[in-house]
Amino acid sequence: MTFKNFPMVPRVVYGRGSFDQLQEILIPKRTQNDAPFVYLVDDFFEGREAFLKRIPLEENDMLIFVSANEEPKTQQVDTLRDKILADSTVFIAGIIGIGGGTILDLAKAVALMLTNPGSSADYQGWDLIKNPAVYHVGIPTISGTGAEVSRTAVLTGPAKKLGLNSDYTTFDQVILDPELTTTVPKDQWFYTGMDCYIHCIESLNGTYINAFSQSYGEKAYDLCQEVFLKDILSPEEAQNKLMMASWHGGMSIAYSQVGVAHAMSYGLSYLLGTKHGVGNCIVFDHLQEFYPKGVAEFKEMVRRHGVAIPKGLCKDLTDEQFDVMIDVALSLEPLWENACGEDWKKVITRKKLRTLYQKM
Ligand code: NAD
Ligand code: ZN
Repeated sequence: MTFKNFPMVPRVVYGRGSFDQLQEILIPKRTQNDAPFVYLVDDFFEGREAFLKRIPLEENDMLIFVSANEEPKTQQVDTLRDKILADSTVFIAGIIGIGGGTILDLAKAVALMLTNPGSSADYQGWDLIKNPAVYHVGIPTISGTGAEVSRTAVLTGPAKKLGLNSDYTTFDQVILDPELTTTVPKDQWFYTGMDCYIHCIESLNGTYINAFSQSYGEKAYDLCQEVFLKDILSPEEAQNKLMMASWHGGMSIAYSQVGVAHAMSYGLSYLLGTKHGVGNCIVFDHLQEFYPKGVAEFKEMVRRHGVAIPKGLCKDLTDEQFDVMIDVALSLEPLWENACGEDWKKVITRKKLRTLYQKM
């Protein structure tokens, strides 16, 4: 028996307005005088001068706006890496990702690919990365995925949607400034927040559960309940608490696993490009038999916040398309084992998944 020896984020700043500490944090990391930092920033912030002025850009630094409309791709990571190397004559001092899970994963992946040769598609899997990444900082602007704490950067490649899972993936520094989430639109706030809620449900109700994961998962679950089920928090308190829920939810799955909603949502995402947060909601809505209490509570949250969960995505799909989704979902064996135990193959058949997908 070996126990996972996994890395944690070594440094974290928390607080409303803490974003302004970025300059002070970066100064000692500028290894050579002219070594640039590269900022990968969600293009939501493009043109928002009041925010952009707060980024401590120095002469050689690069600021690249990236769209989060689609989830990150291996090809996109490789292209960004090539562009950064082409535009700089000296080595890069660090990568700073400012955005949601999409941008945070891109920042982690680009930081890794600056020091590891070839295509990021070659490293989709577990512990395939050979060399430490360049220094990388994550600054979430929306809460829920836990990408700020995790040791993976989820990428869609030519053959699969799978993360660069490695000890080098984890950020060297995270800045948690809940104020940055103020502008998140309501639906997106809910979908990404539900990613955290579903992390908790899948972790706490999984067969891999242990006291380590439970301690983080229960805290995250309580915080989600305060944010999504009780009407007692001010908007600022809700932002503060959801940011910490995301962190704890991410920590909870680090030492356990996610489950049915994530496995099936990966199928939707691979075939249809459905984004992670909303995809999880679409799937979770139909998982009463696996998570009765969690799904009932989820439906109550949907009702309370008047958010629409898309329906009818699969109604016109062909047999081949269903097969693609089912193949992707079934390939995520640890998720099923966590959800349904060692004998999961007896319960989770292709027919069963087809029936579930047909409802979505
Ligand atoms: P996202 O990054 O895809 O962003 C969603 C939308 O919110 C985008 O339109 C973006 O522009 C907008 N947005 C972000 N911050 C905003 C702000 N402050 N104001 C206004 N709009 C804002 O959303 P997400 O749900 O955080 O991330 C999803 C991604 O995270 C997926 O690619 C998924 O695979 C990944 N993920 C990674 C992990 C991990 O451990 N690495 C875990 C879960 C999910
Ligand atoms: Zn998730």
